[in-house]
Amino acid sequence: MQVKANLIGGQWVTGQQAQENFNPSDISDVIGVFAQASAEDVTSAVAAAKDAQADWAALDAQSRHDILDRTGNTILARKEELGALLAREEGKILSEAIGETIRAGNVFKFFAGECLRNTGDLVSSVRPGIDIEVTREPVGIVGIITPWNFPIAIPAWKIAPALAYGNTVVCKPADLTPACAHAIAEILMECGLPGGVFNLVMGRGSIVGEAILDHPDVTAISFTGSVNTGQHVAEKCLQSMKKVQLEMGGKNPTVVLDDADLEVAVSSCLNSAFFSTGQRCTASSRFIVQEGIHDEFVRRMTEEMSALKIGPALDSNSQMGPVVDERQLVSNLKYVALAKEEGATVIGGERFDGPTTGFYQKPALFTDTHNKMRINQEEIFGPCASVIKVKDFEEAIAVANETEFGLSAGICTQSLKYAAAFKKRAQAGLVMVNLPTAGIDYHVPFGGRKGSSYGPREQGSYAKEFYTIVKTSYVSTG
Ligand code: NAD
Repeated sequence: MQVKANLIGGQWVTGQQAQENFNPSDISDVIGVFAQASAEDVTSAVAAAKDAQADWAALDAQSRHDILDRTGNTILARKEELGALLAREEGKILSEAIGETIRAGNVFKFFAGECLRNTGDLVSSVRPGIDIEVTREPVGIVGIITPWNFPIAIPAWKIAPALAYGNTVVCKPADLTPACAHAIAEILMECGLPGGVFNLVMGRGSIVGEAILDHPDVTAISFTGSVNTGQHVAEKCLQSMKKVQLEMGGKNPTVVLDDADLEVAVSSCLNSAFFSTGQRCTASSRFIVQEGIHDEFVRRMTEEMSALKIGPALDSNSQMGPVVDERQLVSNLKYVALAKEEGATVIGGERFDGPTTGFYQKPALFTDTHNKMRINQEEIFGPCASVIKVKDFEEAIAVANETEFGLSAGICTQSLKYAAAFKKRAQAGLVMVNLPTAGIDYHVPFGGRKGSSYGPREQGSYAKEFYTIVKTSYVSTG
């Protein structure tokens, strides 16, 4: 199999080492062999990004727009093929994978438009004969480090704004899922991006990620991943005064009040917890359910989750794909065992043999739990959710907020009063009323609070807070 190379200074570079990438639905399916970058490769990539940055930033807005727009159009035109690659690589079912690919294409098109909307302010001075201009400039060379669970959308929502606002990029995708980021790199080159503006360095966090963090010429880091790695990234960035943006984990609550429409509540919770195999930072893993509706909710959830068809990602009958790899599956099973040890009643959650050799797990529901249990405080990142019974709205909101995370929070209710109160009081970056906690639009800000996020928001025009730096210029007109 031909080695898929890193992209450095516009050249495809295979280097000394390569790694096979497997399909979690069927481990006999090798998706590709991907070059593993060295620390020296990162040095070359940063040098190329540095050389290319001034010309890229100076390029007219129309040309930058056209390259990003063509990239978006190409991703959209190839959505079936790229979606299938994503489903094979990450394990989410094909319809979800195509949906994620469409989002990636739309993100590029949105930020193509942003190239034309990079406006500033002309401000009156407090002194006579002076004009003040406030403008935005690129931050410089952006290091992008991404996780495995949205292997095309997350690279897209970091790469597109970085390029739109005139930065150059060194990007390291997750070592489990390099194929989609590699496809983006190929498309960017086909669409006319000058060499060195975007560089792809695939490989391990401990080698490639560290080399990006350590490089003094990298001026900003946009990271999405786990809390532990995120904290390490932040410490490193502080030492070298890099601008940093972190998106990390979640333990997202969904409150279900007695007056909820049960159909809406069950379908929202099913989607939130188990779609994409629960491997979403915005997945809901704590259902906080009022006592009047509790038993019926548990009965219906058990029924619906037991009926979910779990199988290979590319099988059109599958409603939930496999877990991403053996390590994640073993970790999920440990949490299922822990739930029993902590006194929860466990429904489902077993590993099972699918039609192909992969990492299959049944969805798990933990009932009779309380919020202090570890299963309700730690991010599991698999198809596992708990039910916590509460007496009223006040207890529900207190439990919802009693977590170190703050990404997404949902409520199912027909009461305007409680929906409005929840929107105000939920300590989360995203609030959903009668909707799944996951499922976000690509043109509005995305991010969380507390341990879930750090730094400016991603996506939409809010992305410019991170990818640009403000300059205030004073001009004497006298
Ligand atoms: P991870 O932290 O293990 O890895 C994330 C990235 O960091 C990978 O590219 C990895 O190779 C790299 N990395 C690892 N060690 C590094 C180091 N020492 N220096 C530099 N880079 C290093 O996370 P993961 O397992 O890939 O992803 C799952 C996590 O991502 C979950 O916690 C999930 O909640 C989170 N996530 C958050 C969001 C969000 O927007 N909030 C979105 C998706 C996923």
